[in-house]
Amino acid sequence: RPRALSGIQPTAGSFHLGNYLGAIRQYVALQETHDAFYTVVDLHAITVPQDPAELRANSRLAAAQLLASGLDPDRCTLFIQSHVPEHAQLGWVMNCLTGFGEASRMTQFKDKSAKQGADRSTVGLFTYPILQVADILLYQANHVPVGEDQRQHIELTRDLADRFNGRFGETFTVPDAYIVKETGKIYDLQDPTVKMSKSASTPKGIVNLLDEPKVSAKKIKSAVTDLETEIRFDEEKKPGVSNLLTIYSTLTGSSIKELEGKYEGKGYGALKTDLAEVLVEWVTPFRERTQEYLADPGTLDGILAKGADKARAVAAETLALAYDKVGFLPAT
Ligand code: ATP
Ligand code: MG
Repeated sequence: RPRALSGIQPTAGSFHLGNYLGAIRQYVALQETHDAFYTVVDLHAITVPQDPAELRANSRLAAAQLLASGLDPDRCTLFIQSHVPEHAQLGWVMNCLTGFGEASRMTQFKDKSAKQGADRSTVGLFTYPILQVADILLYQANHVPVGEDQRQHIELTRDLADRFNGRFGETFTVPDAYIVKETGKIYDLQDPTVKMSKSASTPKGIVNLLDEPKVSAKKIKSAVTDLETEIRFDEEKKPGVSNLLTIYSTLTGSSIKELEGKYEGKGYGALKTDLAEVLVEWVTPFRERTQEYLADPGTLDGILAKGADKARAVAAETLALAYDKVGFLPAT
């Protein structure tokens, strides 16, 4: 079976609809076809200021949400990144293979550091894509299910895998991004030209999966659309309506065509009311399942411990190979 690897940050507590539709749904699907590794990337979470107690709670919360989304610990490997020290170790090697200019071209760093102020950005935020390279290469992943915003980082991963292989001999699998065209970029409800984001969206623009369903329903109903009335998928001219149609279509399995037909001659209000209901029906059991996992931290921690063991077995093998290739003296 091909391998899949992906990671998600535990920064904000609740995952949002963009995380679910853009990435987590694909994690669930790839369990059936891949040897799949999914990790809560707490090392990435400290690239911005964080509260220790919150980080700890959010890491458990992230794992609970992944399980509630349908990850099955018997069919995939779910673990906390910091439980597998090989990530940081291979990350260093990859840092030493990356050009400073090359790292400087990462648009996500430019965006995030511009927002924080260059002086307040950490070197960790700057090098986080390189740690992500290590995350992926450690598992010899063939496919990396992510949202569109990660495409450039997967390109960097491919470049570094090729570079390492070229310099030291065949070592790493060169991975492909696995991005679903329809849902690779879910937009902010208040500004449907930018992606919905844990760190950048305003509260009204982001649908947090763990919010009270009533709150999320209200956000859908007040989503920004346009001055027309026609319900039609047109990302250029009608980004707000198109975003709602994408969300609706993915949550229900109805095609966009079917939805356009269903709402012909009806206004945006009808579309929003129905979508709000669809969303509430979806998040209600999701929240319950998440709470069930949280209520039993012993079981949750057991799943994560087993996941870390499985992940480490693979990661340690790859790291040993890479260390040998670069010329480190064995520690025996
Ligand atoms: P931040 O804004 O702090 O980077 P985030 O909202 O991007 O947070 P991450 O944990 O960085 O959340 O991303 C987890 C996964 O969700 C990644 O694969 C990312 O590409 C995907 N993702 C994030 N936002 C969206 C979105 N709006 N649409 C589709 N996929 C998304
Ligand atoms: Mg992100």
